Amino acid sequence: MTLAKAYAAASASAPLAPFQVERRAVGPHDIQIEIAYCGICHSDLHQVRDEWGGAKYPMVPGHEIVGRVTAVGAHVKGFQVGDLAGVGCLVDSCRTCPSCQRNFEQFCEKGAAFTYNGFEMDKKTPTYGGYSSSVVVDEAFTLKISPKLDLAAAAPLLCAGITTYAPLRRFKTKAGDKVGVVGLGGLGHMAVKIAAAMGAEVTMLSTSKAKEADARKLGAHHFGLTSEDLTFKKLAGQFDLIINTISAPHDYNKYLGLLRLEGAMVLLGVPPEPTPVAAGSLIFGHKVLTGSLIGGIKETQEMLDFCAEHGIVSEIELIPVQQVNEAYERMMKNDVRYRFVLDMKTL
Ligand code: NAP
Ligand code: ZN
Ligand code: ZN
Repeated sequence: MTLAKAYAAASASAPLAPFQVERRAVGPHDIQIEIAYCGICHSDLHQVRDEWGGAKYPMVPGHEIVGRVTAVGAHVKGFQVGDLAGVGCLVDSCRTCPSCQRNFEQFCEKGAAFTYNGFEMDKKTPTYGGYSSSVVVDEAFTLKISPKLDLAAAAPLLCAGITTYAPLRRFKTKAGDKVGVVGLGGLGHMAVKIAAAMGAEVTMLSTSKAKEADARKLGAHHFGLTSEDLTFKKLAGQFDLIINTISAPHDYNKYLGLLRLEGAMVLLGVPPEPTPVAAGSLIFGHKVLTGSLIGGIKETQEMLDFCAEHGIVSEIELIPVQQVNEAYERMMKNDVRYRFVLDMKTL
């Protein structure tokens, strides 16, 4: 057991503050990682503020973790001390159920061990995330990070990257497909980059006119301002696929109208309240409305390798850990360009 420095929330209304967590002794299959950087996902904010219910405190958020290996267990095969390593949203699962066997550990039938605000597979040891100086994780849930990528900017790939890559792959995105990305934040900007790298014709759909130039720089071919009704008329029936990353309640029906015959909209954002969907929005044109949750470990590694090959990382604002509460406030105001990453040296 070692003590690690961390930042934690003591309750739904408390700001994050310095804290210490116990990390387990390095077991035979474990890897100890000195955390260099950790991204701030909007899910961190939803969970810290208990917007989804069931939050466990003290909570050390953070599931976009990158760093260097400082110790390995006797049976670890794939990592050595000094290697780069990453940890995303998952730290364990049962590994034998049908979901795990299909590489969907996030849907483990025994309940996956999420990186924070959850429990290890014993269902009693709390998990603490990456706003911390170190972490101990089983090798099977540790990802390899290419040294070709800027390490701090690669951190958000561990959640924002895989969460957008997975549905783009599931819908077999290819050259010429028309993909709409809704919401230009952490997830949205990764969706634009990855869809563009897959050859899609990408349209950014945003409430923020001020983000248009950035959207184009990120790889979007078109921009639609969603605060204007005309945008929904002009773009009606256009898209093969819409990746919807909006974190707040909004009208799904309007966006379903933008899909072509048999087009699909994938919900990634998790607004705290449900939103009604009219049957007609789906019936006319055989539209598909679905969701997607992060991605399994195998696909996360595939995404990291894809990003290394295409030179894709996140656009980040690197901040000292002491500014985390301010970063949350800015995220609430849609003022993220386009992912905050905590520099753990400052802890
Ligand atoms: P983020 O960086 O805060 O970006 C969210 C973007 O949504 C904003 O930048 C804004 O884009 C748009 N938006 C926010 N409020 C809006 C509103 N009221 N109406 C319309 N648009 C609005 O958040 P993120 O980290 O990308 O996360 C986005 C959502 O995905 C969160 O709910 C998060 O919990 C969820 N998430 C899900 C998964 C999963 O596995 N499904 C994984 C990670 C995160 P514009 O300024 O361009 O309009
Ligand atoms: Zn996340
Ligand atoms: Zn399982």
